Amino acid sequence: MPVTRARLLVMNAALGPLDYRVPEGMAVEHGSVVVAPLGPRQVTGIVWEEERLPSDRVPDEKLRPLLGMLDVPPIRAELRRLIEWTADYYVAPMAAVARMVIASGGALRGPATMTEYRLTGGAPERMTAQRQRAIEALEGEQATIRELSGIAGVSEGVLRGLVNHGVLEPVEVDVDRPYPRASADHHLPDLSAEQREVAGRLVEAVEARAFAPILIDGVTGSGKTETYFEAIGAAIAEGRQVLVMLPEIALTEAFLGRFEERFGALPVVWHSSLKSTERRRAWRAIASGEAQVVVGARSALFLPYANLGLIVVDEAHEISFKQDDGVRYNARDVAVMRARFEGIPVVLASATPALESLHMADTGIYEKLVLPSRFGGAQLPDIKLVDLTEEKPGSGAWIAPPLRAALIDRLEKGEQSLLFLNRRGYAPLTLCRHCGFRFQCPNCSAWLVEHRLSRRLACHHCGHETAPPGKCPECGEPDCLVACGPGVERIADEVAEMLPEARVAVVTSDTLNSPEKAAEFVAMAEAKAIDVIVGTQLVTKGFHFPELTLVGVIDADLGLEGGDLRAAERTYQQVAQVAGRAGRGAKPGEVLIQTRHPEAPVIAALEAGDRDAFYEAETDARRYAGAPPFGRWAAIIVSSEDEREAREAAQRLGSTRPHLDDVQVLGPAPAPMALLRGRYRFRLLLNAKRSAELQQVIRVWLSGVEHPPGVRIGVDIDPYSFV
Ligand code: ADP
Ligand code: ZN
Repeated sequence: MPVTRARLLVMNAALGPLDYRVPEGMAVEHGSVVVAPLGPRQVTGIVWEEERLPSDRVPDEKLRPLLGMLDVPPIRAELRRLIEWTADYYVAPMAAVARMVIASGGALRGPATMTEYRLTGGAPERMTAQRQRAIEALEGEQATIRELSGIAGVSEGVLRGLVNHGVLEPVEVDVDRPYPRASADHHLPDLSAEQREVAGRLVEAVEARAFAPILIDGVTGSGKTETYFEAIGAAIAEGRQVLVMLPEIALTEAFLGRFEERFGALPVVWHSSLKSTERRRAWRAIASGEAQVVVGARSALFLPYANLGLIVVDEAHEISFKQDDGVRYNARDVAVMRARFEGIPVVLASATPALESLHMADTGIYEKLVLPSRFGGAQLPDIKLVDLTEEKPGSGAWIAPPLRAALIDRLEKGEQSLLFLNRRGYAPLTLCRHCGFRFQCPNCSAWLVEHRLSRRLACHHCGHETAPPGKCPECGEPDCLVACGPGVERIADEVAEMLPEARVAVVTSDTLNSPEKAAEFVAMAEAKAIDVIVGTQLVTKGFHFPELTLVGVIDADLGLEGGDLRAAERTYQQVAQVAGRAGRGAKPGEVLIQTRHPEAPVIAALEAGDRDAFYEAETDARRYAGAPPFGRWAAIIVSSEDEREAREAAQRLGSTRPHLDDVQVLGPAPAPMALLRGRYRFRLLLNAKRSAELQQVIRVWLSGVEHPPGVRIGVDIDPYSFV
């Protein structure tokens, strides 16, 4: 319906709704993306329903006209409702959520072309070694000069020279050229009876075109991916779009390969490191409906799909679906809401579902589909504990004798092993042997972590880095620095010393920091060019290496330290997932878990392979603590670069706390990370009964207190990290 007045949600969180006049001839409707004048500047906004975005009404004669409408489809009502819901639930500005929808500035600029280059077949008048190299490397390639320079390994200058000599020629390409088409039945799998049943139910849900939240609870290697591929096929066949969310960019490569095999074309990929041209191409294809299947990180959730038919959240228990800055949302939960607004099925797949998800299934809100056994008769691995209080590693070592023997055994048999320790770098703490000085981050309450591979001391919170000094900065003693405790690099050194002939790979976000490196690692592991993988939580996910028969957990107690409410659950998930990497092929797998607390309920449940016992105990503990899913938590973080200012602001908030029966306010107290990225932080925690109007309580409370401009108030609903 065309409108003559337009109320805008502008893409600037500091501004409220603004009203404009729609000039004659401009066919604006709700959801249209428009440009409007704001003083001497321009703002982008989305035309919103006036009654849903309350503001003082400006009389018609005072309205300034809109400047123009952007060449993109209007943001659909379903997505507008999701923006409202997300802002409301997470106590965030609507503009901040809308910015995640309009995630590509380039896409708003309309159709575009760009110049790529390719070989003409000609030769330069003067051949140089560099030119020769470029010409050989660029056979069959077409890309921008910068990309070609990367491919050929020569400078952009060399390539420009070749353009001048007519060896490379420019080609104008449409930036938004179509993606290859996936076909629903390119290569149909032979599903097991179990898988067929689950797949059948998923396909039915897609065809029903109605909201249906479904949990696939399937053991590692049961073929969860294989079965939800059938649902994707059904959506493709009906001409509807699919969003698959994966927790980690490192997982995407392996997924893409499988997807291409099944559907004959690659899906559209969305993540934060896309180049701006790729980003706009993907965004426009998503908005026009041309993109059939989108695979992405959590940010893909808010894109303006034209015709969404299915959402899949794979490895749905993963905490990386929780965003911890900006709009602090949980993509798993928002995915369910999006599916609800769109009226489509949403599939959460996991071998270790979050307690909240299982609870939803047990109470009948989610449908639960179970895949109880591994595909192809592969057995779940045999899990044993190594009690570190009895089986002691040597001094300065972390691998106890039973794990050592198992590693040697695998190497002799030519099988692969994986060692898991959730700590990047060489050592978590470096100190001076002479005076005890500890290297600390100047911006955060955190130790600097030594990284030997890249020769630096780094803060994992703010990115601060420094070269390891030759002498102690405190007492000046030379060569006195000692590494305390292990990181994965140190474990890799220990393996190398123990098994000098073994080929060892360290897998962390430092080493697998691009899709290419992830793909390279997967290829090497599959080709058996790696004997021992040493990795952080990155290796707990999704990888499928059939020759991997041993998994060693270096320190299962690590995750249980610290005050995280979900510590036990996370430890369970991580260890169960990493254990799930063992014995996925024909050969059986073995898992050795090193621990100092074999009696701890989580550890005992892991050894017994008794998931139900663990979840039951954890459920009781949560019920007792009023924690999710039985009660709710929220955190309010007050921060400032000035410690006193932050403390006073927190105290001001604390003194105006609401006094309610169903919301309890704890704090303020210095946050566990009392200093983060140069800001001092104080924290208030809210624990609420399910019946409480938690968000409304917070909104009213916060709006009643004023703070100096240097103070920032962050609200985290359903927090995961309590730092
Ligand atoms: P999950 O996601 O449950 O861990 P995957 O879908 O990754 O399991 O399957 C594990 C392995 O088994 C993969 O290599 C997959 O290709 C294979 N697989 C599973 N189901 C089938 C099937 N029906 N036919 C052929 N291979 C299968
Ligand atoms: Zn820091």
